[in-house]
Amino acid sequence: MNCQRAQDCMKRYLDGTISDYDLKEFTDHIKNCPECYGDLEIYYVMDMAQKYLKDESKEESYNICQLLENDMKDKLNRMERKRRLRGFLFLAFIVLAGVLIWTACLLMGYI
Ligand SMILES: [Zn+2]
Repeated sequence: MNCQRAQDCMKRYLDGTISDYDLKEFTDHIKNCPECYGDLEIYYVMDMAQKYLKDESKEESYNICQLLENDMKDKLNRMERKRRLRGFLFLAFIVLAGVLIWTACLLMGYI
């Protein structure tokens, strides 16, 4: 099998419609021809990517835009929770300081 013939077989190889005879010749050629192997590798990756994208049950995990959007929402929520916690801690500190000052004044007889 020559390179031109191997190139013609690639699509049939990927969608599984290649004949047994061609498959044997094709794989023999691919194993010994780095150029055709490289091309097959590229087509294979593209084919796999298309299958992943078509798989609706996994749509969310392979939807890069959705993943990025979810990641941004998570980070913003985490930031908001930290901001609220800092606000609460500041308020608790003010209340505690007030109680301590009031107690000190009470003990020293100023009140
Ligand atoms: Zn070749």
